[in-house]
Amino acid sequence: MRATVLYGPRDIRFEERETPKIEQPTDAVIRLSVTCVCGSDLWPYRGVQAIERPTPMGHEYCGVVEEVGRAVRSVKPGQFVIGSFATSDNTCPHCQYGYQSSCVNREFMTRAQAPVLRVPQADGTLVATPAMPAPDLLPSLLTISDVLGTGWFAAEAAGVKPGSTVAVVGDGAVGLLGVLSAKQMGAERIIAMSRHQARQELAREFGASDIVSERGDGGVARIKELTKGVGADSVLECVGTHDSMWQAIRATRPGGGVGYVGVPHGVSLDGAELFFTHVRLHGGPAPVRRYLPDLIDLVWNRKIDPGKVFDLTLPLDQVAEGYRAMDERRAIKALLRP
Ligand SMILES: [Zn+2]
Repeated sequence: MRATVLYGPRDIRFEERETPKIEQPTDAVIRLSVTCVCGSDLWPYRGVQAIERPTPMGHEYCGVVEEVGRAVRSVKPGQFVIGSFATSDNTCPHCQYGYQSSCVNREFMTRAQAPVLRVPQADGTLVATPAMPAPDLLPSLLTISDVLGTGWFAAEAAGVKPGSTVAVVGDGAVGLLGVLSAKQMGAERIIAMSRHQARQELAREFGASDIVSERGDGGVARIKELTKGVGADSVLECVGTHDSMWQAIRATRPGGGVGYVGVPHGVSLDGAELFFTHVRLHGGPAPVRRYLPDLIDLVWNRKIDPGKVFDLTLPLDQVAEGYRAMDERRAIKALLRP
């Protein structure tokens, strides 16, 4: 098969690789229906996160099971399945506590920008849909694997509840789906921070009531102004830079919460300053496995349409253009069809 490999900054190649096969009795091999480029793929693509060797890319996936190892019980060939970007046994103490992305048997998925994928810990990682999905549901089902699950965790970690006032830092796909998630959780007011018109429109479609285009101190001041000087109850940090993290913390009211899901790059927190903010911080890699059944249900019953974050669709062999379009912010998120 041919698959996606990153060789160095802005050097994406689609090249011949060995087709994956069952290696462990707990594995499944699935044929991907759709896959995509993640905002977090841009960190190594831009060279911000160094890679030591050519690295196969991709960690968002859904598709049809082709083969399972002899120990696999919960999924079988022919089923359509979705899995988290982090594998899990779904039985260890961390999984039982709802933090499957800290599973003692966790592996971070990679190699999913390909036609075929091996998934370790298949029983604990994959969830099957009720039947074979209609083709128009595929983009939304794919978002559950990471980007929607991550936006959902950001909202949950920030403590969003019915009636909350919420601010979202970051207008990438995760931030936009953080808006959708906050809306689903009953937030009354959702302030999306974006200076990009197409993204502002999608944020409104997903439930944003206000848009703030200022950034940094100006953005914080504007959120304070919109909340009568109080700050937001919950702030979703969906970028991962030092500035975006502090923008989120300073926009939060005392006693409020920040849910941070942007992979941190260069974030440093001053203990004394944090101490006096009175803000709760919770974040990390989203425990997507916990949300899979409920999010599949919401998409399956067409209650939400998170697939709208894909504003570019390409054949998989043009994956390099998907990276370029997202890097240059010409696309919010690129869907790839094997
Ligand atoms: Zn576990």
